[in-house]
Amino acid sequence: MPQDLNVQLFIDGTWRPGAGSRTLDVIDPATEEVIGKVARAEIADLDAAVTAAERGFAIWRATPAFERGKILHRAAAILRERIAPIAALMTREQGKPVKEAKVEIAVAADTLDWFAEETRRSYGRVVPARAPNITNLVLKEPVGPVAAVTPWNFPVNQIARKLGAALAAGCSIIVKAPEEAPASAAEFFRVLAEAGVPAGVVNLVFGVPAEISAHLIPHPAIRKISFTGSTAVGKELAALAGAHMKRATMELGGHAPAIVFADADLDVALRVLLARKFRNAGQACTAPTRFLVQRDVYPAFLARFAAAAEALKVGSGRDPATDVGPLANPRRLAALQGYVADAVEKGAKLVTGGTRLGDQGYFFAPTVLAHVPISARAMNEEPFGPLALVNAFNTIDEAVAEANRLAYGLASYAFTASAATADALAQKIEAGMVAINDSHLSSPELPIGGVKDSGYGSEGGPEAVEAYLVTKLVTQAAG
Ligand code: NAD
Repeated sequence: MPQDLNVQLFIDGTWRPGAGSRTLDVIDPATEEVIGKVARAEIADLDAAVTAAERGFAIWRATPAFERGKILHRAAAILRERIAPIAALMTREQGKPVKEAKVEIAVAADTLDWFAEETRRSYGRVVPARAPNITNLVLKEPVGPVAAVTPWNFPVNQIARKLGAALAAGCSIIVKAPEEAPASAAEFFRVLAEAGVPAGVVNLVFGVPAEISAHLIPHPAIRKISFTGSTAVGKELAALAGAHMKRATMELGGHAPAIVFADADLDVALRVLLARKFRNAGQACTAPTRFLVQRDVYPAFLARFAAAAEALKVGSGRDPATDVGPLANPRRLAALQGYVADAVEKGAKLVTGGTRLGDQGYFFAPTVLAHVPISARAMNEEPFGPLALVNAFNTIDEAVAEANRLAYGLASYAFTASAATADALAQKIEAGMVAINDSHLSSPELPIGGVKDSGYGSEGGPEAVEAYLVTKLVTQAAG
């Protein structure tokens, strides 16, 4: 495969190399070959991006909401036309099966359409006055230029969520997209420009993440930040944002409990959990990780889930028959190997998988561990890989206590035929999202976000746009 990727920065409507002409390598995780390079932004590039975003903000906030919506709809339509070529790029640089890459890009188009429609619903309100001749107006205004940092697991849709909401609100944005999967992100920006997003409204940079966030977050022109990534990094960035009084949306790690009751439809539970667990090789913040299965059905569930995991085809994402591609980078491979070794040493039973596959490419076998002690690291740290930890429980109180044991609170899953159990779980589970007998967690019209250490703010639904708006009161006496 030729080293043909040459991804540049997109600043003020122009593609350009970094001011220092430095680059970073892009690796194909299925072959470990260098497949190209991405420009590395210097401070001068970041300053140029901020200046562009300030200019872009002045233009975009003055663009009528209906016009902004039309441009976003147009971008969604162009993106849909390019699903196949962008998906091929994404698979090369990130590894996921091409069929999953296609779904991600289709969802990104859907996300843009949702936000296009929300542009026309940024309502303010009129509040009854306490005296005659007074008008109280509550106005919603765009917060200003935004800096967003998006991760490598969903290289296009993570951008679509932040950028779609920002643009709907009337904000401009600088996105630091993932250096590990830059080409599909760059194609997304090409689509936005072709759709008519004015120069300076959307800007794309790559480089050294810590350098970029340390420069952009405190910058006086940046009014809001949005980050998706690990809890550890999120806490650092939120602290920096706090020190500079910047609004922030933090979509951080998760460690989703998946509670299967004895009265559940096991076929549904197995189908949903298998798909959610191994999608993107488990590298999703909403992936189920701590499987809690009621004791009566534990042996049957464990045997069927492990057999299904074992039957998944692991291989290059380019092969249409592949179910699970490589991990996105060597850090994940090392982390997964460490989690399995630690859990087994502490008494967990390895039911299937547990090892790297082959010696080229970051492939890791779909893995099921049973009877995992809560002292195991994987029971406490986000595994972020194809690892299912399957334990038994007796009572709902026990299951809820385990579900709420960790500081994470992003997604959660439960399967039961009992309405009373479902109601109790909906109330008691500490999570931003609770899916019961269902897996539809990530549609653009639904709130997406966490509680506790999983962060704050939402990346879907009307709440997502609200996060990019400020409230202004205008109270005015007539005459
Ligand atoms: P990491 O914590 O080093 O990086 C996570 C993301 O944050 C990357 O996109 C990276 O570019 C960015 N980042 C790191 N340091 C930064 C900084 N100082 N300023 C700005 N951005 C910074 O971890 P990793 O090895 O890339 O990923 C592993 C962990 O990250 C996983 O265990 C998972 O918890 C988390 N993660 C979460 C999501 C998600 O969707 N919530 C996505 C990717 C990674």
